[in-house]
Amino acid sequence: MRQGVAPPVWTATALTLFPEMFPGPLGESLAGRALKEGVWSLEAVDIRRFAKDRHGTVDDAPFGGGAGMVLKPDVLSAAIEAVAQAPGMAGVPKVLLSPRGAPFSQARGRELAAGPGVLLVCGRFEGVDERVIEAHALEEISVGDFVLSGGEIAAMAVMDCCVRLLPGVMGAPDSASEESFEDGLLEYPHYTRPATWAGPDGTERRVPEVLVSGHHGKVATWRMQQREEITRRRRPDLWAARRTAAGNEEK
Ligand code: SAH
Repeated sequence: MRQGVAPPVWTATALTLFPEMFPGPLGESLAGRALKEGVWSLEAVDIRRFAKDRHGTVDDAPFGGGAGMVLKPDVLSAAIEAVAQAPGMAGVPKVLLSPRGAPFSQARGRELAAGPGVLLVCGRFEGVDERVIEAHALEEISVGDFVLSGGEIAAMAVMDCCVRLLPGVMGAPDSASEESFEDGLLEYPHYTRPATWAGPDGTERRVPEVLVSGHHGKVATWRMQQREEITRRRRPDLWAARRTAAGNEEK
């Protein structure tokens, strides 16, 4: 039973030029239900509100020349300061979505989910003035080695990963523990009814027999073998890291 003052909910704050993009896909399904139930809260703050001129200018040409525009340091910094000083924002990690950032991971998602929330700065155009990153010690996070046109979709990916890890969001308490990346392995393959299914070419495909055997021990062994095999074949990097970790444990 929860007694007394309820703890503040996990809060995601996005700084963006397109606040109307939020909650977007996060308003549906698992994350959407949790949002409606107040398990987490989401605030999208319009960077343009902090523009200094009446035209609402937020970007300018890069010093040194080159293509594209850069988010102005004065405007972006004012937005970050305003949000970071709001009640309840003390100790909230300040993140800039950036293809140059550290690759986002399940492990970082878990850490963020365990904290009070996250402030996510969404870049646009060519990016943001470097001095803002320094001045606010922004943690740069990338969602992959590809370039998006803005940080909003990347921010949503980070939020979604964190929210499904919050207590009470996912149905079964341990449905997260066997998932891909949680222990350095990818997931085993899933099957559901019907047990025999004829694909588009008429070929009958039957689910692996062990899964309908009712033998829990054998199922667990088979699944672990599948996880190891799939990880070894598809992600030699994960496999090597796991072998190194196992080797260190033995020492
Ligand atoms: N000129 C930049 C790309 C800018 S893309 C470069 O070459 O690195 C515009 C914005 O989209 C970025 O400021 C960032 O906020 C976001 N973005 C693009 N790709 C991203 C990625 N892989 N991960 C996180 N954010 C990304």
